[in-house]
Parts: sequence; structure tokens; C-alpha cells
Amino acid sequence: MSAVRDLLGPDQVITDPARLRTYECDGLARHRVTPGLVVLPRTAEQVAAVVRACADHATPFVARGSGTGLSGGALPHADGVLIVTSQLRRIVEVAPDDERAVVEPGVINLHVTHAAAPHGYYYAPDPSSQLICSIGGNVAENSGGAHCLKYGFTTNHVTGAQVVTPDGDVVELGGRAPDPPGYDLLGAFVGAEGTLGITTEVTLRLTRAPETVSTLLAAFPDTDHAGAATSAIIAAGVVPAAVEMMDALAIEAAEAAVGCGYPPGAGAVLIVELDGEVEFAQVELLCREAGATEIRIAADAAERALIWKGRRSAFAAVGRLSPDYIVQDGVIPRTALPAVLRRIAELSGDSGVRVANVFHAGDGNLHPLVLYDASVAGQEERAEEISAAILDLCVEHGGSITGEHGVGVDKAKHMPRMFTADDLDTMHLLRCAFDPRGLANPGKVFPTPRLCGEVPGKHSGPHPLQEAGLAEVF
Ligand SMILES: Cc1cc2nc3c(=O)[nH]c(=O)nc-3n(C[C@H](O)[C@H](O)[C@H](O)COP(=O)(O)OP(=O)(O)OC[C@H]3O[C@@H](n4cnc5c(N)ncnc54)[C@H](O)[C@@H]3O)c2cc1C
Repeated sequence: MSAVRDLLGPDQVITDPARLRTYECDGLARHRVTPGLVVLPRTAEQVAAVVRACADHATPFVARGSGTGLSGGALPHADGVLIVTSQLRRIVEVAPDDERAVVEPGVINLHVTHAAAPHGYYYAPDPSSQLICSIGGNVAENSGGAHCLKYGFTTNHVTGAQVVTPDGDVVELGGRAPDPPGYDLLGAFVGAEGTLGITTEVTLRLTRAPETVSTLLAAFPDTDHAGAATSAIIAAGVVPAAVEMMDALAIEAAEAAVGCGYPPGAGAVLIVELDGEVEFAQVELLCREAGATEIRIAADAAERALIWKGRRSAFAAVGRLSPDYIVQDGVIPRTALPAVLRRIAELSGDSGVRVANVFHAGDGNLHPLVLYDASVAGQEERAEEISAAILDLCVEHGGSITGEHGVGVDKAKHMPRMFTADDLDTMHLLRCAFDPRGLANPGKVFPTPRLCGEVPGKHSGPHPLQEAGLAEVF
């Protein structure tokens, strides 16, 4: 660690135990580890120097952006270095003619849109955390958001990345051009959750801002009707910029937190946003035919903002209903929404564990919020059981154990529900090509620690990575 410390100024290194603890978790506060050392580099060269020193001393390292991740991806390593990108916040270039922006990884998602807006552009991927999350974190998680239904996830908006590899080399993946030849290494890097290296500069695709945006809030008796409306809108060939759903419990929480004025007594609401107004009447009609009890259309920017405020506040707002909750994240084919939501309600009813649903309905990306009180014996365990059962449901219906929050430390144990040992070994081979010693964000994504070069398959006895305290077996 002293080799790393000496590379940076004293104000860029944190060793004080109390200050180290501020970094002990990300948005998934159930997992906490105090990092061995925290560094705040200001340049790509400093990141590379730190990573090189880690490589020389076989020290694990973890990248951290804003720490809003919900799967424990930025959970530190007790004997490792946490590399925080919050001082790498330069917007290097906005190039509207090329529809590109080049930014450092610590830049906040929404700040890209602020920089592009004077040119008539914006950055389309918009996680609900966009006021605080970083582009580096978005790239690592392949983050989504309300507008990813129409425009695609982060991976569709990153054309290039400068990357510090786990041995400290600085390489360029992709570039400004849309589709470079050869293997899609950039595609592999986006969504790798910091296990293939650290990005120090990202080239983003900018999207032309629509001339007008129309936003509609429709209230339904229940999630079945709201789900049917979602399917009807998509089946009609309309591609809204966003279709978001909240159920009664999520509405109750948002109402208490921000007074968003959603229709009282609604069993579910849909927020539908369209670029332009051409298909608006059709969407309204389809919502009415699917059983909407009330429809409101935002008359101006302030009304639109209030509609979105309820949705964007919903995760945090649920804290008003329950001292603790799990933010689950899974994805299913859109047509399975009514069946899966009904089953979640049954699981909730049978177990007595309350579940609020607030999610990206248009692309089937569920976010059940499983409520519990950790101070009541057994509640946390029951909540975790329900939460795991919801993931099983997603897989049974042809979906996935994560829609957009990543695997991290939280869902590594669930990977075998979706992938065979051979699948996981193949993914691991890719990881080994970037990081043969497993120093970049160890213990994340993969369920069982493996070393590069060893024979795939079952391991007998404790794994050397376990013995070194670098990883756990689930
Ligand atoms: C209220 C709330 C709402 C949210 N809504 C959404 C949503 O709608 N959609 C969505 O997808 N997510 C959502 N999230 C989850 C989270 O905001 C995203 O995953 C986000 O991309 C994380 O960014 P971050 O800067 O906080 O990253 P961190 O939490 O700091 O890190 C996340 C991962 O990225 C890695 N990482 C960070 N920087 C780098 C880098 N420079 N190079 C390589 N790896 C790096 C870390 O090691 C870690 O694995 C939400 C979270 C909250 C708290």
C-alpha cells in the first residue's frame, strides 16, 4: 500500500480509518467492507500508476464512481485499494457535428445532457439516479433508465473508451466511429462491472433532442390493466420514449414523500412519454380501452416534472413505509408482466412480506421493492427468500436475474440459475484475457473463485483465492 500512497499527493490518499469507512458500501448497504486504502486520482496517468503499483504488489483494486450501485459492485476489498473517480470530472469535448461527447469517468450522467443541450442534443440513457451517478459507473453496469426503451442501454451510446488494464497499460477500445472491425472488446468492457479494468475517458453518442415531448399519466384499477395497456401500446407499433409503471404501494410512498398528486385510489399508474405528439391520441385511446380510470396530460414542463418526480423519488420514498427494503432488479419479456406481477402479489400475500413495484414496464425491467424490518427477528431472511423467488420467476419466464443493476457481489450466487458451469468458465476465460491474476474487482460477478489457467470444473478443497481472502464460495 505504501507504494500506492507515494504516487499521489496527500490530499488524494485516505488512510484515516474513520474516513475510510465512508466508502465501506455502495447503494447496497447490506454489504460493508472498509477498504485498505482510498485514492482519488486526478488524471488517467495517476490511475494507471496506481493500478501498475497494485499489479507489482499483487494488490486487488476496485473502481468506484458515485457509489450509487445497487448490487455491491463497488464494495471495497479489505486489503485492496479503492480507486475513486470523483476528481476525474472533466467534460473534455462536446462535438455536436459528430454527435459525440468525450468525458472523464467521474462526470455525472445528467451533466452530459447539460453540456449537450445548448447544441440541441442530450445523452439518452437516464438512470433514475442520473443526478448523482457517474458515467464510469454507467459504463461498468451498462445502466438503463426510463428512456432506454426507445434508445437502448448505455452500451448503445458508448463508441469508445480509454481503459487502464489490470496491469496498468492504457489502451483505447473503439473510438468515435460507430463500428470498428475486429472483436468487440468495447462491448465486452461495457457491463463488465469493473472486472476488466478502469475506464479513464469515455466517448459517448449524443442524441438529437426532440422538438416536443408529450407526457401522459394514466391510472388503472390494478397492475394487470396497466400491463395490458403497456402491451397494447407496443403491439400497436408505437415506440414511446418511456413507459414506467408504479403499483399502489409505490404510489403511496411517492405521494407521502413528494406529493406528486397522482390520482387517489389508483391500483397502478403508467407514465408514458412520447417524442412529439403524432401518436399521442392513439396512446390515450389504448390506455382507455385497457381500462384506464383517469388520464392526465402534462400541460407544461412543470407538470411533466411533477409526474416524473413521483417516479424518480420512488426508491427512496419507500423508506417512509419501511425501515429496510431490498431493491430487486430482474427483467422479463414484456408479455409476461401480468402473470409475473400477479405471482409476486401472491408471494407477498402468502408470506406477509410487502412488495412495492416501480419499474420500466416498456422493456419488462422489474424493480420489486421488498419491505422488511431488520430489527424484527426473521423478517430479513423472509424478505431475502421472496427476493430470490422473484428472480427465479424472472428466469422461469424467459428473463434474467438482472435488468440493469448488475450482478456485483449481491447476485454472484444467482449466476448458476441462468448459466451452466461451461458458460461461466467461458466468461471467465474472457476475464482472464484482461486480468490473469484476478486483481480487478475480485469477488464480483462470478459465483465461484477461479484462477486463470486452471482446469475448468469443480474445485476440491479451499480455493487459493479463498485462502487469500480475495473471494468467497457461495
Ligand atoms: C435511487 C437510485 C435509482 C437508480 N436507478 C437506476 C436506473 O434507473 N437504472 C440503472 O441502470 N441503475 C439505476 N441505479 C443504480 C446505479 O445508479 C447505477 O448502477 C449507476 O450506473 C452506478 O453509477 P455509480 O457512479 O454510482 O457507480 P458505482 O456504484 O460507484 O460503481 C458501480 C460499478 O462500476 C464500477 N466502476 C465505477 N467506475 C468505474 C470506472 N471508471 N471504470 C470501471 N469500472 C467502474 C464499480 O467498480 C462498480 O462495479 C439507481 C440507483 C439508485 C440509488
